[in-house]
Amino acid sequence: MSIIVQKYGGTSVGNADRIRNVARRVIAAKQAGNDVVVVVSAMGDTTDDLIKLAYQITDKPNAREADVLLSTGEMVSSTLLAMALENMDCKAISLSGTQAGIQTDSNHGRARILSINPGRIVHEIKEGNIVIVAGFQGITKSDDITTLGRGGSDTTAVALAASLGASVCERYTDVEGIFTADPRVVPEAAKLKEISYDEMLELATYGSKVMHPRAVEMGQIYSVPILVASSFNDRPGTLIHGGLMEIRNKVTAITQDMDVAKITIVGVPDMPGIAASIFAPLSKAGVSVDTIVQNASIKNITDLTFTVTKGDVEKALQIVKPIAENVGACECVADTKLAKVSIIGSGMQNTPGYASTMFSTLFAAGINIQLITTSEIRITVIIADDRANEASRALHKVFELEK
Ligand code: ADP
Ligand code: ASP
Ligand code: MG
Repeated sequence: MSIIVQKYGGTSVGNADRIRNVARRVIAAKQAGNDVVVVVSAMGDTTDDLIKLAYQITDKPNAREADVLLSTGEMVSSTLLAMALENMDCKAISLSGTQAGIQTDSNHGRARILSINPGRIVHEIKEGNIVIVAGFQGITKSDDITTLGRGGSDTTAVALAASLGASVCERYTDVEGIFTADPRVVPEAAKLKEISYDEMLELATYGSKVMHPRAVEMGQIYSVPILVASSFNDRPGTLIHGGLMEIRNKVTAITQDMDVAKITIVGVPDMPGIAASIFAPLSKAGVSVDTIVQNASIKNITDLTFTVTKGDVEKALQIVKPIAENVGACECVADTKLAKVSIIGSGMQNTPGYASTMFSTLFAAGINIQLITTSEIRITVIIADDRANEASRALHKVFELEK
């Protein structure tokens, strides 16, 4: 028998009817001759609601307690799915991340999976059970519960697929697959038949919430193909894999990230050690810095700009301001209303012209580019967040992605 791992997202298990719908799909996969391991997200907006609750109690929720609190969301959905299956005369058992043997590091709120001991899961499969694992969570060496970061159930699923030697990880959600852009932003977006791990990793990292970036990374490292499809119908989805791809001589997809803020330190003396003195304390405080740009210096004075998430701006400013003063910089300015818009595609590699088309399209729309960053298969612009949707639509059109 082959093992398949299926993951169902929050919308797909959003109420009792939807949980019954998932149960029927899981039974169909079992009847098709597979051993099935299912990973579930918390129902609907449960995780957001739990976070809001914590902030009603305190401005600074204790990280360890917050992880225990958030992990309960996935416990609710996994137990209900096990009951739904049993009610349909199908043997099933739910397991928490801890019971499933998922060990993580101790970075609360954004833990990484270190290892999986699949013994209990394998035992339950042998007992004839469908095993439902609560996603998004694990346990540290010292027995504290952790969570894997928003969207982390995807990573639970791919990690389990790798550890169980599953033939595929099927990720069921509220869209029919990976599209050329977020269909909620660009209605003409087209579904992709397949996409490479490299392209998907750029898409996920640069704002497309449809896959947790770490899940894509795991899929790539352990060669687990990931099928993204709808939990509401049986139409073919998108396969994320590393096999031979049809060569696409164009942009594959567009993505945007609305959660961008920028801090510029103006008039920094250009000397060794300055960057380290600014970024080391930020990293120590857990502020994740993204794009960093240092201008060419004039008379040994330069400007240093970096981006963080909107939620981290205040914390970053508090850390950076005294350092900037110390090294004799003029001032720190923040812009909290930014977004990233990226075009992504392996077909862009070593091919000129994409950047100029992107920039002239934005210019024609009167959209000002504040920063630009690139990788071999991605070009990203940072622009005002209230222009991001318009930018995505214009770029989708100019690169003819609806076809
Ligand atoms: P789940 O609850 O199943 O984990 P998510 O809400 O995390 O689902 O991810 C699915 C959503 O991702 C879709 O509803 C869609 O709006 C969004 N999305 C963003 N970019 C894309 C894309 N390129 N293709 C498909 N969906 C995308
Ligand atoms: N429930 C968690 C979240 O909302 C994890 C997930 O859905 O993957 O982020
Ligand atoms: Mg998700």
